[in-house]
Amino acid sequence: MSYTSQDNAGISSGVKNACKDIFKCMQCGVCSGSCPSGRHTSLNIRKLVRKAARNSDVIREEELWMCTTCYNCQERCPRNIDIVDAVLGIRTLAAHEGIMHSEHRKVSELLLEHGHAVPIDEENRKNRVEIGLEELPETVHKYPEELEEIKTLLSSCGFDRLLGKKRKGSLKRK
Ligand code: SF4
Ligand code: SF4
Repeated sequence: MSYTSQDNAGISSGVKNACKDIFKCMQCGVCSGSCPSGRHTSLNIRKLVRKAARNSDVIREEELWMCTTCYNCQERCPRNIDIVDAVLGIRTLAAHEGIMHSEHRKVSELLLEHGHAVPIDEENRKNRVEIGLEELPETVHKYPEELEEIKTLLSSCGFDRLLGKKRKGSLKRK
């Protein structure tokens, strides 16, 4: 599906689509109490859910990018709300609007350039051998001839264009 940058009404309806069941939330806090990321970052998923239900400006929230998508919250939500799917849907909207956390952008650029989000260096190679692993993992590092195919794939789904979008608000770590 193609996507063009939306006006406020478009973003608002996009957020509503991404958060179909979110109005069932009773703000019990089971999600935030189950969230491992919230123990180490500013993410409060209960508050984020509340904001998503009320305000399309949620696409600008830095906390949106702190979720590791472990699905703890979604599995435990007593209202069976698809919390993580909503987070991912809102992130997608944000990315299409040129808003992406700087760390996520960095990882995405690595993927685009090297075919893998974690480039391998000499130290990594040495560490792998020391713990009894093959020097190179079963990724494009071991099969560099596949890099062009990965780039073609990323280009055909528009990933490269998404990263090249004019930045409307690259979010940095606080
Ligand atoms: S666990 Fe579910 S119902 Fe409770 S606050 Fe979180 S999203 Fe809302
Ligand atoms: S999926 Fe995200 S918000 Fe939910 S518990 Fe895991 S890190 Fe927290």
